[in-house]
Order: sequence, then C-alpha cells, then structure tokens
Amino acid sequence: MRKFDQAYISGAFRTVHGRDELSLINPTTEEPSSVLVLADEEDARQAVESASQAFTQFSMTSKQERIDLLIALSDSVRARADELTEATVIEYGGPVEQARWRAGLAADNFLATATLLKDYSFTRWVNNAEVVAQAVGVAVHIVPWNSVYNAISVKMAGALAAGCPVVVKPSEYSPWQTQLFTECLHAAGAPAGAINLVTGLGDVVGEALTSHPAVRKISFTGSTPVGTAIMRAAADRMVRTTLELGGKAPTIVMDDADVAEAAAAALAMGFTNNGQACIAGTRILIPRARVDAFCEAVKVAVAKIVPGDPSDTATTMGPLVNRKQYDRVQSYIRKGLDEGARLVTGGEGRPAGLTRGLFVKPTVFGEVTNIMTIAREEIFGPVLCVIAYDDEEDAVAIANDTPFGLHAYVIGKDLARARAIAGRLDAGRVAINALVHEPLAPFGGFKRSGIGREYGIYGIEDHLELKTILGRKAG
Ligand code: NAD
Repeated sequence: MRKFDQAYISGAFRTVHGRDELSLINPTTEEPSSVLVLADEEDARQAVESASQAFTQFSMTSKQERIDLLIALSDSVRARADELTEATVIEYGGPVEQARWRAGLAADNFLATATLLKDYSFTRWVNNAEVVAQAVGVAVHIVPWNSVYNAISVKMAGALAAGCPVVVKPSEYSPWQTQLFTECLHAAGAPAGAINLVTGLGDVVGEALTSHPAVRKISFTGSTPVGTAIMRAAADRMVRTTLELGGKAPTIVMDDADVAEAAAAALAMGFTNNGQACIAGTRILIPRARVDAFCEAVKVAVAKIVPGDPSDTATTMGPLVNRKQYDRVQSYIRKGLDEGARLVTGGEGRPAGLTRGLFVKPTVFGEVTNIMTIAREEIFGPVLCVIAYDDEEDAVAIANDTPFGLHAYVIGKDLARARAIAGRLDAGRVAINALVHEPLAPFGGFKRSGIGREYGIYGIEDHLELKTILGRKAG
C-alpha cells in the first residue's frame, strides 16, 4: 500500500500538517491501493506564504532564466515518462497508450512555452504610451483528476513564463501521479517558492487557497458548480480568475458523411479518456433520415471497443476513476432509460466478462431529445446521445441549445460546409473530422464552460497585468 503525506513548499518536500486520511482504490481491481494524508489549511497557508516570499525575486528573473527553467521542467518530466504513465494507468485507469501520450503532452507544454517566450515581448508601444505586461502575482492553480500532468503543466508553464510563483492544488484522487510529477518539477531546480503543491480536499485546502489575501490569480479546471462558487468568492477581492469547466459537446454529422466512418469518429470523440473528458462529444446530431443507419453503424463500432485492464495495450477503454463516479454514471444510464431514450448499445452494469473493477459499458442512446437530462447534463463517463435533426439550421440550433460551450465537432466530406457550420457554433474549439489538439491555440469555454483561455501565448497573458506608462516618447 502506498502512502502519500508530502507537500512541496519552498523548494522542498515536507510532511503535511494535516492528519486526516483518504483511502484510495485501484479502479481496475477495486482493491485498496494507497492512503493520502490530506493537507489542511495550515499547509495551504504555508504554500501561499512561500510563493509570496518568492514573488518579488521571481517576477524579476530574466526571460532567459525562465526559458531555461521551462526547458529543464520539460526535460525532467520527459525523463520519467514511463513512471508517470504507469501511475496514470494504475491510479486512474487510463489506457496505457493514451496515458503515455498525456505524459508526453506535459513535457511538450513546458517546451512549447519556452519556445514562445523567446520571441515574446513584455513591453510594446502604443503611439507614445509604453504598455508593460507585468506578472499578476501569486497564482493558485486547482486541477481535477482526469488529466493531471497536462492540467498542471499547461497552467504552470504560462504562470512561470509570466513570472508568477504558483501554488497547485491537485485532486485528492491523484496523489501518486502528483507525487511523481512533483519529483520531476523538483528535479528541474526552480528557485525556492516558485513552485508549490499541496494536496487536500477542495472545501478545505482549495477554499483556504482561493480565499487567501495574498493570491492575485486563480486558474481552476473542474466542474461548473465549483467554478461558479470560486468566481463568486473571488469577486469580493477582484481576484483574476480563469475557469476551465464542464462541457456537453455536440458532434454534428453532416448529411454527406459516410455513416460507418462517422460512427467510428463520433465514438472516438465521445469515448476519449474513458468518457471522462470535458471535451467529449456526447451529443451526436444526425440527419433524421439517417438515424437508423447510424445507430446500426454505432453497434458495429462499439463491438470493436475493448474494455478491460488499462495496462494491456489491446485495451481501448479502462474503468472510471472511483466508486462515486461509477455510481453517478450508472444513475445517468438509468435516468436515460426512465426518460424513454432507446438503448442502442450498452446499458447498466459492467461490460460482459468483467466481474470486478469500475467498468461501465460503452453506452449509446438513440431517440434522445435535447431536453432529456442525459442530453443536458455533463455525465463524465462513456454515455452518448444520438439526436435527430431536420436540416442544417436545426442542427446548429440544437448544437447551441446547451448551457455549455467548451468544444464541438463537425463530421462531413464538404470541408467548406463543415467550416461554415463550425463558424456558427458557440464553442471555444471546433474540430472538423478528427479529435485533434493544437497546443499553441487558445483553449477555453463559452457560456457555463468557463471564462478565459489557456495554452500558448494565451496562457502566458492569462498571468499578466497590463500597465500603461505615459510621458515619454516611443523609440
Ligand atoms: P471538481 O470540480 O469536483 O474538482 C476539481 C478540483 O477542484 C479538485 O482539485 C477539487 O478538490 C477542487 N475543489 C472542489 N471543491 C472546491 C472548492 N470549494 N474550492 C476550491 N477547490 C475545490 O471536478 P472533478 O470531479 O475533479 O473533475 C471533473 C470536472 O472537471 C468535469 O466537470 C470536467 O468537465 C471538468 N474538466 C474541465 C476541463 C476543461 O479544461 N474545461 C478539463 C478537465 C476537466
């Protein structure tokens, strides 16, 4: 049994002050795997103090020093990619190849930001006004359990590039991944206090961090209800907030799409990361006349999915992260049935042949209307809805009829038409025909999917405050 009881503060690991413990299981076997000793408010206070003390000096480091740090962070994460991958597979249930990709993504985030920083200017002139971008101050980053290394690295890269020390509060469900990742960060040799991590409960450590008067920036990735509460509290002190929240992405299948190809692509978009992805395409919009053919193609495509042990390279869908998440997803499947949606494939319980583990059947509902609960709420598991549309206008209207707006997908042969549809969707990202990622392009949501953008230059500027200095002449 692994035990995790360390916070990382002022450039050193230290045993947390908190005494409460959280027991975690391996989601593949449901056997106990580790115990996390939870950090408490005192640990949170010390972490912010450490970052505050580091602020003045760190914010004045040269661009080259920060570039060197980002490159060192990238190198030290990449050097331990195998261990990071193993922890994601065992602790989270991520299929091994996807987990490996995600570990690499974290190293890439640091490196990409280092490269951007080379050409980034913190000063520009607007006529005779000098506009200076300065570090906003101590940044608190709060992240969930579903893509730990990526979420930590993308926020941290932007903050460090801008000259902000950070305090990270990772999820209480990822202590092993956090411990290994923090060891990588430590190995990169950041100035003491520039990087701090404390793992505890959201309503204890999370709240202690977000309400600390020395914190000037909060970047949060997680659920919409928690993000809303954070923004409300931040308003009192006008703390800058970036919120990366939930989603209910539409996948519009155009009438010229090949049905079998579209089914395979839509499932890849919907079931990514075992369905535990904010970007998952969970509402599949199909021309009414093609719904039956599409649902038949879905059955064929789902039959090719291999649920099971995520450490096996043949596995394409692992378990859900914890019992709470499993129960929640099962309850949504029941709800779909109760509301009269037709089960195309999947349903309640585990996939055939799996007698233990938090595995959910890859489930697709047909005859879903956009007002059903399963079409409106974020399920965060492998449960998809097929919704019929009459024409393009109707498809766009249904796609945009959601409180969320993080991601959307369009599948079809006519790329000009697909692009025109993409232009009408209220979502921070729209991908045409594939689940593609561009780490230098902005990422973030419309509507209740959040506020602000991260990645690339946007992630750096997210941690900067602009100041105009007047009274001198340009040049
Ligand atoms: P969550 O909101 O329950 O928790 C996220 C983090 O916030 C955790 O570290 C948690 O401990 C902390 N937290 C909880 N309550 C808090 C509080 N009162 N104050 C401060 N911090 C608090 O979300 P989750 O279940 O861990 O993750 C799943 C959610 O994250 C989904 O809604 C998903 O869509 C979202 N998500 C969004 C993105 C994105 O980029 N938009 C990416 C990944 C996940």
